[in-house]
Amino acid sequence: MLSAASELPNSKKNMKIFLDTIGCRLNQAEIEQMARQFRAAGHEIVAAADHAELAVVNTCAVTTQAASDSRSKIRNIARVGVEQIIPTGCWTTLQPKEAAALPNVLRVVINDKKDSLVATTLNLEPSTFDLEPIDRAPIPGLHRRTRAFIKVQDGCDNKCTFCITTVARGEGRSRPLADVISDINSALAGDSKEIVLTGVHLGSWGQDFNHHLRNLVKAILRETDVKRLRLSSLEPWDLDADFFSLWNDKRLMPHLHLPLQSGSESTLRRMARKTTPASFRELAHAARDVMPNAAITTDIIAGFPGETDDEFAETLEFVKEMQFMGGHVFSYSPRPGTGAAKMKGQIKPELRKRRNHILQEAIEESAKIYREKFIGQKMSVLWESTTEYGEYGWRMEGWTGNYLRVSANAPSPRWNEVDDVELIGVDGEKLKGVIRDA
Ligand code: SF4
Repeated sequence: MLSAASELPNSKKNMKIFLDTIGCRLNQAEIEQMARQFRAAGHEIVAAADHAELAVVNTCAVTTQAASDSRSKIRNIARVGVEQIIPTGCWTTLQPKEAAALPNVLRVVINDKKDSLVATTLNLEPSTFDLEPIDRAPIPGLHRRTRAFIKVQDGCDNKCTFCITTVARGEGRSRPLADVISDINSALAGDSKEIVLTGVHLGSWGQDFNHHLRNLVKAILRETDVKRLRLSSLEPWDLDADFFSLWNDKRLMPHLHLPLQSGSESTLRRMARKTTPASFRELAHAARDVMPNAAITTDIIAGFPGETDDEFAETLEFVKEMQFMGGHVFSYSPRPGTGAAKMKGQIKPELRKRRNHILQEAIEESAKIYREKFIGQKMSVLWESTTEYGEYGWRMEGWTGNYLRVSANAPSPRWNEVDDVELIGVDGEKLKGVIRDA
């Protein structure tokens, strides 16, 4: 590693900077914030590493694979000739020495120093960027998103026994309401059509100053011109039935991502999750009472230590009962530094994989039924990707409010446009649509 103080490229103007990330929406939100700050300081964000003079990689540690992918990304960026690389993020925070030893690393920035990464890299006062926040512009290249991910919270005070994020991100802390509103307004001024609120433990926003996430959502709907507001992952124990009355405002997207992790009460206890199948069921019913067509997606861990055949059967039964619209099934990945990694009854990897497959099939089955309910309906779609399509013009892919993936053709590209689309059939895990007002 080059010695940080003297080698910082602060004198250089108009540097080409490549921002890369892996993992969660919060990591994406953080590199979007860095992009705004580097641009405000007169630098250019480039789409690929091979044009860059400096690169920042926001790493992930949620699974063994994510940690390995983080290292590969840094090596690949060095291999294409970037001489100054700054690893940050969860894997870097857990393994700073290992990160510092990777090729061309200029400096290592752990999570609780990440918010001032740009300022300290450019030797500027952190307040520099508060003075005149610039509009959001999508990051070019692979991480180009129409939707603006806005960080509202960081860290977590829970201690789910499988979770390394709570170790890497530290205590729960909320961003002030005014900062969140300012970021949203910058994103809207930058022509974002959808705002996605994100955090490590989003549902705990405001707990550090006697507020609740509902206060934040109400303030955003009251004080900004947001047209589509989406909430990222919400821990079930942070919500109550009254929370869903917020969805009387149609600008709030009818999609809830509620990590269940297991459908077995005894497994949930070993995970130290503050929920039970019964309370989860009650919450899902309360949500569907207010939004009958709400999309409920989830996360499940297959093969958690000690998971018996009976416990697995309970989980499978519960997943089928909940009729999820989609979800991620993770095969349990022991993370050093977590309680579960030391637990007895570790399940063989091949059995974890088999259980993962069975759960994924059950979720795909209910997702298919959910998707097909909407064929024949007209829904508004925000286009997220466009591909030239020969004689058919352009092929679009995007999301409805209830997180259905839709594809359609159009005579011209309609990236970042919202159209009314008639859903006419199935296209694999997507729905085929016809744009009705292009
Ligand atoms: S609530 Fe649990 S799973 Fe979520 S970040 Fe906190 S400790 Fe991890």
